[in-house]
Amino acid sequence: MIRPPSEAKSLLVRVVRGCNWNRCNFCGIYDLFGTPYSTREKDEVIRDIDALYEMYGDIFRTAFLGDANPLDLDAGFLADVLRHLRRKFPRLERVTAYGRASSLSRKTAEELSLIHEAGLDRVHVGLESGSNRVLKFQMKGTSHRQLIDAGKKAMASGMELSYYFLLGLGGQDLWEEHVNESAAVFNEVKPHFIRVRRLFIHPLSRLSGKIQAGEFREQTPEGTVRELRGLIAGLDSEGTTFTCDHANNYLQVHGRLNADKSRMLEFIDSFLGLPEGERIAYYRSIPSVI
Ligand code: SF4
Repeated sequence: MIRPPSEAKSLLVRVVRGCNWNRCNFCGIYDLFGTPYSTREKDEVIRDIDALYEMYGDIFRTAFLGDANPLDLDAGFLADVLRHLRRKFPRLERVTAYGRASSLSRKTAEELSLIHEAGLDRVHVGLESGSNRVLKFQMKGTSHRQLIDAGKKAMASGMELSYYFLLGLGGQDLWEEHVNESAAVFNEVKPHFIRVRRLFIHPLSRLSGKIQAGEFREQTPEGTVRELRGLIAGLDSEGTTFTCDHANNYLQVHGRLNADKSRMLEFIDSFLGLPEGERIAYYRSIPSVI
């Protein structure tokens, strides 16, 4: 099951298989892993939870509901699954899931509150970019406005919101807009978390085909570091935890906004002040991983 790094020690409960959208040009991860989208019966998921309890006992503190977008499921279905999970594993302190902005925005405030009250504490949303042009080119199926509205709605229900930002997604042509419009979404929503990843281009992805066709100019390594700097410089999101918690980031920058903003910028500036040869050698030392 694909889950965020922050859920590495979580109990994994699959409530749906694959991604119901599955069209983002940069992704295709469920195709690559051979997991087409399909829903599951509630009884089947409940039996999985019981089997997990038999296998491990009540040892987990956190749980993650997979796969890509459980928030698209019926609120009553999710609430029943969450209540059963919480009953079976009473020591759970946190339960989270991925959710697309479009699915969150289709849910009513009451439905989101029902899901939260049944036990979902946090939703991980792939913002990727706040730029409408980047979102459209990458076929993300959402918009700047929807990302703001869906994020606010999720937080109003009581859930924590974790937004994911993808360095390099605007390529060399749209990078400034990519950074500025994303910062604008973050500043308006003020999510609990902003988590940064660097774009990984799988050779079998649709985006790779667009590079071959000359429709996308891949960002340079140093360009992604400058994007990271530009994003942090543009943020005014008091209370947000900012983190680059993925192995393929060139710089691992972490802090609490707005207090740690200057420190994070100074760290990036000190890196950019290194001799060019050292920077290039460093970029080469970082693996590109999904
Ligand atoms: S990025 Fe997320 S929403 Fe887009 S295809 Fe991949 S899993 Fe689905």
